[in-house]
Amino acid sequence: MRRTAPDGRSEPRRYHEGVPGFTIRLFGDPVLRQRTDDVTDIDGALKQLADDMLETMYAAPGVGLAAPQVGIQKRMFVYDAGEGPAVVINPRISESSGEWTFEEGCLSVPGLSWPIVRPRNILLEGLDIDGNAIAVEAEEYLARVYQHEVDHLDGVLLIERLDPDQRKQAMRTLRQMTFDRGGAFVPSGNGGGRAPADGAGNPVGRPDDGGAQPDRNPHL
Ligand code: ZN
Repeated sequence: MRRTAPDGRSEPRRYHEGVPGFTIRLFGDPVLRQRTDDVTDIDGALKQLADDMLETMYAAPGVGLAAPQVGIQKRMFVYDAGEGPAVVINPRISESSGEWTFEEGCLSVPGLSWPIVRPRNILLEGLDIDGNAIAVEAEEYLARVYQHEVDHLDGVLLIERLDPDQRKQAMRTLRQMTFDRGGAFVPSGNGGGRAPADGAGNPVGRPDDGGAQPDRNPHL
C-alpha cells in the first residue's frame, strides 16, 4: 500500500502509471508465497478494500486481482471477466474436471505469459461481498480466472503450474530480468515465457482457442 509520500504528506492518486491506490506486488515479493487467512468480518472496511482492489485491477489493466497481490493476507479476490465487477470471499474450488490450455499471464509477473493446462470446469464456492453463500459453475475462461486467483490465495504463482521444462525455462528468464523503477520487468536475456508486447508494455497474447476474450488483457 503506497498512499503516503516519504515526507508524510498524502500522495495524490496516480493514474498515469496504472496503479491508483495500491501498488501491485511483483514476482519475488514474499507476500505472494504466503497462504492467506480466511476473512472473518465482512464489513465496510472490507467493501472499501474490494473497491480499491477493483480500481487497481482496472487500472493495471487486468481481469482479476487477489488480495496478496496488493500485500493483504486476506482470502478474497476481485474480478471482471466481461460481465461487471465481482468479489469472492473465502473461495474454494470444490469440484474440477476436464483439461484446457490457455495462454495465461499474471499482474505480478507482468509482460510474460505461458500456455498453461488446468481443469476446464470447476465449481467455486465462497461468499459474496454481502456475506451470502455462492456456488458458481464455471468453464474455460471464467474457470481459469477463478483457479488463478484461488492459487494466489494459497501462495501459488502461475510459474508453479508450468510443466517441468517450461518451468525451468521460465525461472531462467525471470532470473535474467529485473524490475525497472516503474515496476515493469526489463528483460536482460531471451527465451522463456512469451513476451510480445505492444507500445505500452502490455502483452498481446491471445487465448489459444482463437480468442474467446480477444480484447481483454489476459493478466490475472
Ligand atoms: Zn496473478
